Amino acid sequence: MVTREPVLKAEEVAKYFEVKAYGRKKVVKAVDGVSLEVREGETLGLVGESGSGKSTLGRVILRVYRPTRGKVFFKGRDITDLPESRLRPLRREMQMVPQDPYASFNPLIPVGEALTEPLVIHGVATREEAREAILKMFERVGLTPPEEYFNRRPHQFSGGQLQRIAIARAMLLQPKLVVADEPTSSLDVSIRASILQLLKEFQERLKQAVIFITHDLALAKLVSDRIAVMYLGKVVEEGPTNEIFSNPQHPYTLALLTAIPTLDDYEPPKKVVLRGEIPDPSKVPPGCRLHPRCPFATDECGREEPPLIEVRPGHKVACHLIRKG
Ligand code: SF4
Repeated sequence: MVTREPVLKAEEVAKYFEVKAYGRKKVVKAVDGVSLEVREGETLGLVGESGSGKSTLGRVILRVYRPTRGKVFFKGRDITDLPESRLRPLRREMQMVPQDPYASFNPLIPVGEALTEPLVIHGVATREEAREAILKMFERVGLTPPEEYFNRRPHQFSGGQLQRIAIARAMLLQPKLVVADEPTSSLDVSIRASILQLLKEFQERLKQAVIFITHDLALAKLVSDRIAVMYLGKVVEEGPTNEIFSNPQHPYTLALLTAIPTLDDYEPPKKVVLRGEIPDPSKVPPGCRLHPRCPFATDECGREEPPLIEVRPGHKVACHLIRKG
């Protein structure tokens, strides 16, 4: 059941990176002013092309990165500037399920050992208690008999098995907030459904708030209660999943929907094809950042950035055309 109290709230969050290219400094505006909320038991699908800033936003929300500006609240507490020592106790409640499980484990350390450390560090269990909890968790995620897996190293698992271990690692600490960053995109199609099911079971049992990051709107439709569509560091449309699919408004959302070949029961109300590719986030266009690619762009679009406004209850859109009705 979805409750009213947000587990996670982000207010006008931005994250800029300074990078050097050919001896010149440039600023990459990976996230550029995003506000969102996720409640207990709710899944927010964060959707966009690669380069839209969704993974960076996920890391800012988990305070892996400190935001350049804006605020992050976890269970009502401002965690924006908390030092690591005060963040540590909260980290058990905020976990990530990674895209590539192989990259998220040290290849030299047996997975049982890797999962023991956080439990011991957080003072949740002794080493013996941790071993017992991990074996139970291996069973719960479908790795049986669990003793067989405890001392294996990451390369001795298939991708699907290791993603189960990554989920076990995240869920051992019973988090209230989970950021799942493309958790099935590196896996074989045949095992994706079982990984999604596993995540769903944990969410229901622990009433978790989940942010599900994906480039795939069809997948977002399957797993999300609400969807936020990101483009070049901004949310351009946000709303309940049914509303986004039955009444999409933003040209970028329409373009993403047009590009989905797999939804046979669904036809977008208007087919939209964008010009070119998503630009370099160090060269954000002025005005509406979609304007160089948008087939509906006007002069105003190149001058003024459209605000994100509510067009129906819970449904927000950032586009001058929509503003004018
Ligand atoms: Fe296209 Fe203009 Fe709307 Fe941006 S504001 S999405 S350029 S019509």
